[in-house]
Amino acid sequence: SAPPAPAADATPMIAQYLEIKSANADSLLFYRMGDFYEMFFDDAAVASRALGIALTKRGKHGGEDIPMCGVPVHAADDYLQRLIAQGFRVAVCEQTEDPADAKKRGPKSVVRRDVVRLVTPGTLTEESLLDARAHNFLTALFRAPAKENAEPSCALASIDISTGELIAASVRLSDLPGELARIKPGEVLVGDDMAGDAEIRRLIDEAGAAMTPSPRAHFDSVRGERALKERLGVAALDAFGDFTRAELAALAGLLTYVEITQVGRAPLLRPPRKEIAGSLLVIDAATRANLELARSNQGARAGSLLAAIDRTVTAAGARELASRLASPSTDIDLVNARLDAVAYLAGEPRLRQAVREALKAAPDLARALARLALGRGGPRDLGAVRCRHPRRPRSWSACVARRRGLGLPRELMGIVERLAAAPIGIEQSLAAALHEELPVNARDGGFIRKGFNGDLDEHRALRDGSRQVIAGLQATYADATGVKGLKVRHNNVLGYFVEVTALHAPTLTKPPHVETFIHRQTMANAVRFSTPELAELEARITSAADRALALELDIFAKLVGEVLGQEQALSAAGAGLAELDHYAALAELAAEENYVRPKIDGSLVFAVDEARHPMVEQNLRRGQGAGFIGNDCRLGEESGGGTRILVVTGPNMAGKSTFLRQNALLVVLAQAGSFVPAKSAHIGIVDRLFSRVGAADDLARGRSTFMVEMVETASILNQATERSFVVLDEIGRGTATFDGLSIAWAALEYLHEVNRSRVLFATHYHELTALADKLAHAANATVEVKEWRDEIVFLYRVVPGAADRSYGIHVAKLAGLPAPVLARAGEVLNELEKADGRPKPTDLADDLPLFQATKPAPGLSEPSALEQALGALNPDAMTPKEALEALYRLKTML
Ligand code: ADP
Repeated sequence: SAPPAPAADATPMIAQYLEIKSANADSLLFYRMGDFYEMFFDDAAVASRALGIALTKRGKHGGEDIPMCGVPVHAADDYLQRLIAQGFRVAVCEQTEDPADAKKRGPKSVVRRDVVRLVTPGTLTEESLLDARAHNFLTALFRAPAKENAEPSCALASIDISTGELIAASVRLSDLPGELARIKPGEVLVGDDMAGDAEIRRLIDEAGAAMTPSPRAHFDSVRGERALKERLGVAALDAFGDFTRAELAALAGLLTYVEITQVGRAPLLRPPRKEIAGSLLVIDAATRANLELARSNQGARAGSLLAAIDRTVTAAGARELASRLASPSTDIDLVNARLDAVAYLAGEPRLRQAVREALKAAPDLARALARLALGRGGPRDLGAVRCRHPRRPRSWSACVARRRGLGLPRELMGIVERLAAAPIGIEQSLAAALHEELPVNARDGGFIRKGFNGDLDEHRALRDGSRQVIAGLQATYADATGVKGLKVRHNNVLGYFVEVTALHAPTLTKPPHVETFIHRQTMANAVRFSTPELAELEARITSAADRALALELDIFAKLVGEVLGQEQALSAAGAGLAELDHYAALAELAAEENYVRPKIDGSLVFAVDEARHPMVEQNLRRGQGAGFIGNDCRLGEESGGGTRILVVTGPNMAGKSTFLRQNALLVVLAQAGSFVPAKSAHIGIVDRLFSRVGAADDLARGRSTFMVEMVETASILNQATERSFVVLDEIGRGTATFDGLSIAWAALEYLHEVNRSRVLFATHYHELTALADKLAHAANATVEVKEWRDEIVFLYRVVPGAADRSYGIHVAKLAGLPAPVLARAGEVLNELEKADGRPKPTDLADDLPLFQATKPAPGLSEPSALEQALGALNPDAMTPKEALEALYRLKTML
């Protein structure tokens, strides 16, 4: 909200505040005052509500109270995080000069202040504000100029400023939701020309990101190209990819915004990576959600595929795994090379355990370097670079030498070489300079080792020596005065002082001691004195400590400079560790969960034996009862009859959805480079993956179930290719029987004739089993159930053929429907089946007796006389005698 205009009675401080606030109108302003960040006016009202902190007032402006609230600086991160999570932006305004200097300019001068940083959802770097195991992207969106006969497209440029990762890509506008679901940015930047587009706003909102409009002029491709070249120190960008003008414009918008929010500090930039259309498995947003790839249906990480397979031991490794799982590849060679790496580590359990053990100690190098580059790093971030343990250079070089002969796979060789090439000197000098235990903030001092810098040691010796002299003075003074209980103490107000009990105070205020001891303070039962000697020692300590701290900060800055000078090689090593962790984790997963290496090739086969659903399998194991039943699925050339489409029928709860999804999940896992939960798997590379369930009502979006289903079905029929894998679960459910059936029928035919994709199609329309029999490349499958003493037993085994009955009533019984309802449902079903599924409702109502209650359900019947009488009693208002009489009366009514 806009701040008020400065009023005539504005104090110099409020005038300064208003000036800074008006330059940052779209952010909450954290205005530094001593140990607090204060907020004023509307900001104070908004923030106090958002944070649940007290709203107070301070002074007047234009004759009115100024609302104010504040948060302590030391706890600011916590408040920042809560504000960012609620979608606010925060401008952090610091004092940029020593208050003493301001006083020198005149008694009324205000301390100079400046915004040093804008904190927005997409530009976080602090450990405390970030999820260590997830990337946090800021994405800039730029609509490419329309071309004739081409689908409208847009360019996306994304940066994770907490690691420096930079990615550009172009997608068709229709694929934008899927792309946003893949990247999952915290914040999306759009030119102010696009910001008004309701559809764009909706997409960004649905992706769970904050939208930030940005001047269209910032999206300037020429500027973007120049800025990138400058930052990367290269003459041409060609080496990194073939960027389009639109992508360069998006990059320009992105980098300009980063510059603005970081107020001139340049974040680290990895060389930009161009994601080439077609190199990644396309998974739209609905499919991602439906398959619960990164989040479960409840919206949490727990319960997702990612959570089920994550065995990484470092945060950077977890981010690597998350990225790869979000973006499975379509490059057969690359997928196989990655599988080689997993296979190698899966086959070397001892090496794998050693690597994982060593990695556990590995710090988050990428985020430490990013903070150091932004001037937000502390001694611990330097410590991260020092950590020699898993990167002990000699062992890696030795490892390379030893393994070279053993045919280390390409991906692992690359990692090991990068690690071996990591700079050694900087690690050694950091190890020599830094203490084992490090403070978070450099300004706390005390992080440089003794012996590293002679001057520093000298200042510290002076400081500590004086402290010792002071410690000795206590005994001296006690002796001289004869006061045994005399103490030398320290606080922030008096500095060092002498303290005696009130009883002994007179000794010190009389000659000869009155010469030495200067009275300072009288407490309830103690009196405090200073001495010239103490004052002098104290001055020495302070100046030595100040000098020591200044020197430490100097050394810190030099070390940071040295580290940043080698940032590229260090980053490469950090990325190598992350990749290694992720490969070792996938190998661990394979071993632990009994996954197999999938055969990946350019065929159109999908053939898996005894495949399992990763999440359901792990869930079942947690409970008691039988384990997961693996199921085969054969589509494409290897299916014998050339089946591409499997129509799956069977009762509810029999395991249809589980079967459908597990096969889709196997595609994702395999192309992400992971082993898969099956006995064997052969997967011809998939270009697009679709997974849909017959929709539940989507009232929030104001569309009917049927409309949603049709929109989604349309998108599949329009996009699926021969290489695609399609999973449709109960499509057509959202409408009246015959509409739904007809649409499902036509869609199935179209998938068969036109798309020719590999398709799994679950349905409760038994009519479709006839269609599957007729179509050359379709087949029926059903999930086996057994009837046993009128109960239904699920076998979870997928077998050829169609389900003969739906067992709906059996399932209803399992769900606990009352017996009369079940009995009546059985009668209705019988009539319907006799009438071949087409009885007129009126006939039905005539033929069958209406639902007759044999016994009124409790609660529906009239209350009895006894109950009425009982209900009329009010025990609180009765005397004991009345109560006894009432009891006798009731007894007679039985
Ligand atoms: P449907 O889609 O046919 O209604 P689901 O696929 O939702 O049925 O499965 C219902 C439940 O049955 C699952 O939550 C799971 O607990 C269990 N289940 C499904 N498939 C299997 C299987 N192959 N082995 C063991 N349990 C299974």
